[in-house]
Amino acid sequence: MPHTIVTEICEGVADCVDACPVACIHPGPGKNAKGTEWYWIDFATCIDCGICLQVCPVEGAIVAEERPDLQQTP
Ligand code: SF4
Ligand code: SF4
Repeated sequence: MPHTIVTEICEGVADCVDACPVACIHPGPGKNAKGTEWYWIDFATCIDCGICLQVCPVEGAIVAEERPDLQQTP
C-alpha cells in the first residue's frame, strides 16, 4: 500500500525526497497550516518501500497506508 505524507504535519524538511528510490515525492504549492513547506507522495508511483518513513525526522508526518484524506495534492 502506498505511503502518505500528512500535509498538516509535514515540515518540508525534504529528507524523504532524495531518499525515495522512485522519485515520487513532490513539493506542494504554498504553505500548510504550520506555515511550512509541504510535500506529497504520488500514490500511483510509490512502491511502498518505507524508506521515506525511516528518514523523516518529523513524528507522524508519514503514514504507511494510502490516506488521501490526510494528504493534499496540487
Ligand atoms: S515528510 Fe518528513 S522528510 Fe518529507 S518533507 Fe515532510 S517532514 Fe520532511
Ligand atoms: S514508500 Fe518508498 S517509494 Fe513510496 S514514497 Fe516512500 S520512499 Fe518513495
